[in-house]
Amino acid sequence: MSISLVAVSAAFLFGLMVGSFLNVCIWRIPAEEQVVKGRSHCRSCGKQIAAYDNIPLLSYVLLGGKCRQCKALISWSYPAVELATGLLFAAVLYRFGWTNEALVYAVFGAALIVLSVIDLREMILPDEITLPGISLGVIVSFFVPELHGAATRWGGLWASVTGVVAGAGVIYLIGAAGTLLFKRKLKAIGEEEAMGFGDVKLMGMVGAVIGLWKVLLVSLILAPMSGAVIGLAIKARTKQEIIPFGPFLAAGTLVAVFFGDSIIHWYGRLLCFGI
Ligand SMILES: [Zn+2]
Repeated sequence: MSISLVAVSAAFLFGLMVGSFLNVCIWRIPAEEQVVKGRSHCRSCGKQIAAYDNIPLLSYVLLGGKCRQCKALISWSYPAVELATGLLFAAVLYRFGWTNEALVYAVFGAALIVLSVIDLREMILPDEITLPGISLGVIVSFFVPELHGAATRWGGLWASVTGVVAGAGVIYLIGAAGTLLFKRKLKAIGEEEAMGFGDVKLMGMVGAVIGLWKVLLVSLILAPMSGAVIGLAIKARTKQEIIPFGPFLAAGTLVAVFFGDSIIHWYGRLLCFGI
């Protein structure tokens, strides 16, 4: 089944609008504000933002990235999130068509965007997203077992539960290894753990949706990188800056969602020819 350019464009536009809502989540969830109620206000002068100044992507460009009232700079993360969500939705529809899988990956990808930006800004991965994410991932895997290439609902559930354990477990081990490896450096900057527990919960959520094999794939890709990232993070932290790990995990996960099957098949063939 081929997806028309019109459908992919429509998915892109719909993604832009969803991205606009994700921006609201990104600012309000860490502040424990209500996500649904209340119109958008300028973060600087507090004035309400008119509907015509709230058009995804376009308003940011037309306003030159500044508030109409107080001319304060608007964070570039607003248009970036809108654009990323638009591209995500278009790519998911193009790759997976009108399927249940596509729907799950769109919601999942949106959650990863929200988590990445919150992690970049606040250095936290809120439990309000990761914990329901784990349960939802497991439940959805039961009803959409094709997410895991499973033939039965129980097969889907099993792939998901083992994915949670593998995802959380591997990232916990990577973090523990990092803590051992960088023990003295960490102590010097007053930290005890190389990686936060938020990352463990995030990878649990990822494992619930992409399953055992793909989450191991993500970990394999990221494990060698993570040492370097932890090292860099410690270096940066001495200058009062922290490098969050969440966006790396999210990026690796999206690679696995779009190319995981191809990589696993390719690797499988490589192993067969090797023997
Ligand atoms: Zn303003």
